[in-house]
This record gives sequence, C-alpha cells and structure tokens, in this order.
Amino acid sequence: MNLSQEQQIFVQQIALLILRANSLGVNLTFGEAYRTKEQEAIYVKEGKSKTMDSNHLRRLAIDFNFFINGELFYRHPLISQLGNYWESLDPLNNWGGHFHYFYDGGHFERNVK
Ligand SMILES: [Zn+2]
Repeated sequence: MNLSQEQQIFVQQIALLILRANSLGVNLTFGEAYRTKEQEAIYVKEGKSKTMDSNHLRRLAIDFNFFINGELFYRHPLISQLGNYWESLDPLNNWGGHFHYFYDGGHFERNVK
C-alpha cells in the first residue's frame, strides 16, 4: 500500500472516531493534522515533541480538543474510551494516551513504519 492509500484509510477511520465521539457526548474541535518539518523542529526545540519522525509529517496523525458538557478536557474516561476505540479499528492505530514517554490524549495516529 502506498502512502496516499494509507492516508485515505486514516481519514476514513478518523470519520468513524468523530462519529463515536459525538455518540458519547464528546464534541471535538480540530488541532493539528499535517505538520511541516520546520514546525516539527520548532516543537522539538520547545520540548513539545520528542521526535523528528512524527506521523504528523506523513499526514497520518491528528490532534483533537475534547469538549464534554461544554468544558475542555484532555484527560477523561470518555477520552480513554475513544482511544481504545481508535486502537480497535486497526492494528496500525495508536492513541497518544498510551504513549509510554508522555501522555498525549488528543493525538490519534496510523503507524505504517
Ligand atoms: Zn499529535
């Protein structure tokens, strides 16, 4: 499968994730999806990212903000539920809430490396 096909599957699965969030009463806004190498370098320098090999560089990651009863959350049992749902959709999917180096609950990615 080429990168474009991987990206298309990623977007289709993100659509399912958005619908699941809404069915749980979690409203979403977009954070970052595609990221340039220049932006990644800034984040690494600022300590906001640990890698220059982020899936955002390949259009295979997206960050969301979660609103539950009108309040912004990054940690919440419903968000963990969404993370588990995301990982159940495809063996290549990872949720940032399960990263061992830091918690990134808004981050959803497809890992094709
Ligand atoms: Zn991210």
